[in-house]
Amino acid sequence: MRRQILIFFFLLAIGCSAKSMRFTEQQQDIAIRLFISNNISSVNFFQASGDYSIYGDSVKLFDADPISIITISLSGDSVFLQMPKYEQKFRSLRFVPKSIACSYKLKSLQPDYKARTYDDELIITAQVKTLRLINKVHIEKYVAGVVQWEVGLNNPQEFNKVKTIVCRTYALGNWRRHEHEGFQLCDEVHCQVFKGKTFSQNIHNAALETSQYILVDDSARIITSAFHSNCGGQTMNSEDVWSKSVSSLRSIQDTFCTRKTNAIWEKKIPKDLWLDYVGTKYGYPVRDSAFAKKVLNYNQPMRQVYLLNDNYFIPLKFVREDMKLKSTFFTIREEGDNVIFCGKGFGHGVGLCQEGAMRMAEKGYSYTKIINHYYTNIHLLRFSQIDFFKTE
Ligand SMILES: [Zn+2]
Ligand SMILES: [Zn+2]
Repeated sequence: MRRQILIFFFLLAIGCSAKSMRFTEQQQDIAIRLFISNNISSVNFFQASGDYSIYGDSVKLFDADPISIITISLSGDSVFLQMPKYEQKFRSLRFVPKSIACSYKLKSLQPDYKARTYDDELIITAQVKTLRLINKVHIEKYVAGVVQWEVGLNNPQEFNKVKTIVCRTYALGNWRRHEHEGFQLCDEVHCQVFKGKTFSQNIHNAALETSQYILVDDSARIITSAFHSNCGGQTMNSEDVWSKSVSSLRSIQDTFCTRKTNAIWEKKIPKDLWLDYVGTKYGYPVRDSAFAKKVLNYNQPMRQVYLLNDNYFIPLKFVREDMKLKSTFFTIREEGDNVIFCGKGFGHGVGLCQEGAMRMAEKGYSYTKIINHYYTNIHLLRFSQIDFFKTE
C-alpha cells in the first residue's frame, strides 16, 4: 500500500510538470476502423440487442426498425441508405445506441463475409472504393473482444486478466497510431485483431475485474506490452530484438513454459544450403573445414544475439527470418547431408511468454504475480489516474 501511495504522488508530480491530456472516467470509448484491409462496398445492419437511432449527416432520421433489413452501400463519395420504403444518400451515417447495452450485427455483402457482432456505435462514411466503417466502442468491451480473438476461449481466468491488461496497455500506448486517419486503432494484426464482441462471460469478467488497469514504468510511461507464444525457458532483452533498451523488457529465466506445446521444435535443412547461406550472406569461410565445423555444430545453452564465430557476426534474428525458424533459441548439429536445428520456444521472446503465463495461472498464481514475473520495473495503474497523452 505504501508503495502504491508513493507511486501515486510521483505520478501526480509528473502529471503537473508535463503538458498532457487526461483520459477521464467519462472518455472511455475507442474508435476502431473495421475491415481495414477489405474494400467493402455494401453491408447490412441488424440490431442484435437494444435499440438504435439512425442519424444521416448529423440529423436524426428515425429509430431503427428491429426487424427490417437496413442496407448501406457505397455510391461515389456518398453512402446510400436503403430500407423498405426509404432510400437516401448521405455523407455520413451513424447508428447510435439508445442505452449502454446495445449491439449490432454487420454483414458484409460485397465482398461476402460472415456477419460479425459489435457493441455500441457504428459510423459509416465513404472513402475511395470502400465504405469506411468505424466502431466507437467502450474500451473494456473492445479489450474483451481482442482477448478472445488473440487467445481464444477456455483459458484460466487469471491468464484472461493478464491478457486484458496487456491488450488495454497496448491500446492506450498506441492511441495515436491512426490519429491522422480519424480513428485510434485498426482491427487487424497491425494493431490488435478485433473481429467483434466476445460472448464469453469469463473474458468479460476479466476485463471488468481489471478495469482501466494498464502497465507503466517508473517514469509513468505506458510500457510496450510485448508478448510472444513461448520463450523456451529464457526471455530476451528488448534491445537484442528491436535495438531499443527498455527497463520493463528484461531477459528472465522461465521454467513455466518448458513443457508447453511450443516449448521445443526441430527443423532439418540441407547442409549445402546452410553453408551457402552463411558463406554468401555473411562472407563466412565455409570452405575452411575448421570454420565450417563451427556453424555445423553450434551450441546455445543461454540465449545469444549472434551466432558468433571468431570475427564473423551472424545475427540470430536474421537466421530465424531467413530459415523460417520458430525462434532464435536453437542449437545446430550435423546429420549426414543435413543440419538439424533443435530449438526452444516460439516467437521473438520479448516480454510476456503466453504459454508460461498460462501455466502460472493453472498453478494458481495471481495475475499480478504473473505480470511481475514477465515484465520488470512496472506498475499497475488505472488509466484515469495518469496523464498518458504527453505532448513533451
Ligand atoms: Zn493499425
Ligand atoms: Zn516462457
